[in-house]
Amino acid sequence: MEVVVTVDENSSYDDIKSVYIKLIDDNKGKGLFAAHQISEGSILFKEVPLVCAQFLWNEFYKYKACEYCMKALETAEANAQRLSANPSLVLPHPECCRVNPQSHVECPQCRVEYCSKECRSRAWQKYHQVLCVSQHPPDPDHPLVMIQDVWRNMHFPPETTSIMLLAKMIAIIKQAKDKDNAIERFANFCRATANEEKELVHKLMGTRFQEQFDTLLSVFTAALQEDTVAHWFTPEGIRSLFALIGTNGQGVGTSSLSVYVSNCDDLHLEEEERQKLDSFIDQIYVDIENESGNFLNCEGSALYSLQSCCNHSCDPNAEVQFLDQNSTMSLVALKNIAEGDVSIELCIVATRAVASMRQARCFPRLKFLIFTTHPNSQRLGYIPWHILKLYFAFIHPSFMHTTAHNALHYLKVCIIQYIIGQCFHSFSLFSELNLLKSSTFL
Ligand SMILES: [Zn+2]
Ligand SMILES: [Zn+2]
Repeated sequence: MEVVVTVDENSSYDDIKSVYIKLIDDNKGKGLFAAHQISEGSILFKEVPLVCAQFLWNEFYKYKACEYCMKALETAEANAQRLSANPSLVLPHPECCRVNPQSHVECPQCRVEYCSKECRSRAWQKYHQVLCVSQHPPDPDHPLVMIQDVWRNMHFPPETTSIMLLAKMIAIIKQAKDKDNAIERFANFCRATANEEKELVHKLMGTRFQEQFDTLLSVFTAALQEDTVAHWFTPEGIRSLFALIGTNGQGVGTSSLSVYVSNCDDLHLEEEERQKLDSFIDQIYVDIENESGNFLNCEGSALYSLQSCCNHSCDPNAEVQFLDQNSTMSLVALKNIAEGDVSIELCIVATRAVASMRQARCFPRLKFLIFTTHPNSQRLGYIPWHILKLYFAFIHPSFMHTTAHNALHYLKVCIIQYIIGQCFHSFSLFSELNLLKSSTFL
């Protein structure tokens, strides 16, 4: 069996045996192609992001994740207690939780948390010398703190990206020994034209963005001004950065509870005990649903060089999963892929409805899907159905009679629709709902 290669910024793509990059044409740009026959379910490669940042509201609401790799830091029990607002909740089979608080460390100055000493030292080497706010609690007038405040006020949940992703990009360049090389890595991402950029940023950020754009640019410049990329600190420059992460950004989600649940699923138990455990977990998810809605994961976004070469398809042959419980993504084949001219394609949006909306509005390569750490898990069914049901009923009355089981099939659509609804502030909700309604999907 082929060994799965994990790509990081120091890897040569020649080490990857499963895929190669080829220029398709000037319109489509680069594409990823299968180097040999790939079977369904196999992992094409894993990739560590160039840069990754947790969403700010997600962090604000105490979804604790490693500042560097986004691994969830709460134990499954603490996570379930918080999300269900039940501090006395005790989880059985504690061995199924993979979080080890003993290995967690903080930055001694600003006290941001890391899952391990390795992550802390990587962050420090890469960007944290620039981004450390030096004290805890931080000075509210510190420019880096102000950027986050401004951003939170213009970008409410559900979030699609974070200003800290841009801050980290610039901090990486600031700290790099070879700055040209660091800039080059970001320059290699797929770019939009100036007109597309404007439209993209407008759709991504909404009207609030326009109102507070100047404030954002001035605090951003005060905190991070860097001469080698001075052009990024202009209105056009910062727009192009937002367009870059809007075009290439990949959603990341991690959850210690879902890792725990998936490990519980793998336990060999007597039938009676299995049923008992399953209904216990069912109840936890019901309680969480009532208390926290569908915000279960530590969420963020990241940039991956190789994965960003995947093209879009409405009938994808691969998908991104987070099998390592951190921001390292795994590209998994959804079907058998033949050698050669078959491009590796990701579905950005899972349905024809949203896809047609995407095509109609020329919104390139938007990749803000919410992933659970165990995307194929039946546990997806636990995401709050009573909320989705109302939403679906609005689109189609028959949804009031749909079971939670069927919801599994529609769940992805709803989440994506919701996110896209948030991205397209300028379009009325009704036109989007009508689009979904008119699709053959329903
Ligand atoms: Zn970490
Ligand atoms: Zn620090």
